[in-house]
Amino acid sequence: MPLVSSTPLLQAARANGYAVGAFNVHTLEMLQAVVEAAEETNSPLILQSTVGTVKHLGADYIAAAARTAADRSSVPIALHLDHCTEFDVLVQCIRAGYTSVMIDASMHPFEENVRQTKRVVEIAKAVGINVEAELGKVGGVEDDIVVAEHEALMADPDECARFIELTGVPTLAPAIGTAHGIYKGEPKIDFDRIGRIAQKVAEPLVLHGGSGIPEEQVKRCVALGMAKMNIATEIRIVFSDAIKRVFAENPDENDPRKYMIPAKQAVKAAAIEKMRMVGCIGKASDWR
Ligand SMILES: [Zn+2]
Repeated sequence: MPLVSSTPLLQAARANGYAVGAFNVHTLEMLQAVVEAAEETNSPLILQSTVGTVKHLGADYIAAAARTAADRSSVPIALHLDHCTEFDVLVQCIRAGYTSVMIDASMHPFEENVRQTKRVVEIAKAVGINVEAELGKVGGVEDDIVVAEHEALMADPDECARFIELTGVPTLAPAIGTAHGIYKGEPKIDFDRIGRIAQKVAEPLVLHGGSGIPEEQVKRCVALGMAKMNIATEIRIVFSDAIKRVFAENPDENDPRKYMIPAKQAVKAAAIEKMRMVGCIGKASDWR
């Protein structure tokens, strides 16, 4: 089927108590690997690229590859732009065929975040695609940060409700204690805060920094209303490690078709594991 907007995928996930895996891909093989993972497990899928990857590969190349994957597939696939702070890149991605975009103006004061998000929501609504915005700051939060500061970075439940009301944004990523990258210790997720946000916000919530969160904590987040989990670092690591292993065993290997095979398999296996964790396996059937 053609690429779909992620809005209905995420609304169905929130309504039915599961989350959709959203995977940041950087190469064609990574993209194919997560698509194969979704097909093999009959899962809905969100492919993501960061602005960095858009600048590295080109929005048109990424959209063309995602479109081809979706057209050949029977599972619903959305293409999402992750953490965009640049309005022109965001519009270029929409023009290239992205079916979901994140405007991240969370570093600005509340009013400015509202203004920028509202502007993107108007454009996205006109072309029938999803928008994600962020409140609070998902940081590379350090272990030794003092509690007061740590809490100040998090999203306030009342502010979340007001933000949705003012912007009409269909999906929200509230900062709740997760961080990007790989955690040094256990992540300090504020489950109580997720619950309070979910009580005030009916829209699907997005969990950033999904790499390395223990399974039991992922499940708690999903049960509380997180309908999308972003995975970036973890699949990048398994992809790279598999290639490193090939070259460690055979330094003379020079055929990308050969060393990409274990890399693809590693990404696919890691993606299936995350899909199982968030409970989206088998849920693609609802879209046929
Ligand atoms: Zn993020």
